[in-house]
Amino acid sequence: MKNNADALIFHTTICVEAPQIVLMHRAKTATLLFARASSAALRNGEKMAVSIAIDGPAGAGKSTIAKLLAAKMNYIYVDTGAMYRAMAVYFTQNHVNPDDEREINAAVSNVDITIEYMDGVQQVILNGDNVTGLLRTEETGKMASKTSKYAAVRSKLVDLQRKLAKTTDVIMDGRDIGTTVLPDAFVKIYLTASTQARAKRRFDELTQKGEQCNLEEIAADIESRDYADMHREISPLKQAEDAILVDTSDM
Ligand code: C5P
Repeated sequence: MKNNADALIFHTTICVEAPQIVLMHRAKTATLLFARASSAALRNGEKMAVSIAIDGPAGAGKSTIAKLLAAKMNYIYVDTGAMYRAMAVYFTQNHVNPDDEREINAAVSNVDITIEYMDGVQQVILNGDNVTGLLRTEETGKMASKTSKYAAVRSKLVDLQRKLAKTTDVIMDGRDIGTTVLPDAFVKIYLTASTQARAKRRFDELTQKGEQCNLEEIAADIESRDYADMHREISPLKQAEDAILVDTSDM
């Protein structure tokens, strides 16, 4: 673990000090890390699943890097935000009041979420229906942000996430993976970026899709979601003590 952390610190330092050689070193460092992960996966001669945790606020680049690495290393990419979003789809479809914890608790017991993979891409199944196409809307994102603070919601999804990581090599991204879901993850990365950089990325993405949007409003929305994630009582977003901090603002 120590060597592994050293390799990442090395990588992070290079990113900050000499961005022009990041690409050269990125592949080398990733290969090194995962070679170590594979050998660590043998405990008492038995194959153990390896997990890589990537946490951080929205728009820092977690899913982009997690997907690339998962494809390269043949690991499964687990997008935990999609699970909170699927739960949110259920609440919206069933008119559950996100401010009423009793309503939320009652609703959670009716929700069954499972994860499948189709051509390597995560599919989220909500009570038997594939809802993957419904997850990335603004409305669903807002509902997920409001309801992810509840114990009933979190404990149901954390159980599912731990089950997935038990038997399979995973790269899992979210807000609490390194701190709560997989505290023994082999590598933990806390990926962040300035609000302005993240807002600009979202603005460019929406503009490219032809959607009308306002940079200041996007930045305000990002700030309020960060605040909610960082200040909730259960599993708030924070860097795990043994996670490596990577700031992608200028990457
Ligand atoms: O990452 P994404 O934007 O898809 O996540 C949607 C919402 O789910 C976030 O705003 C956050 O509140 C919640 N979430 C969480 N814990 C995770 C992943 C996501 O609380 N591990």
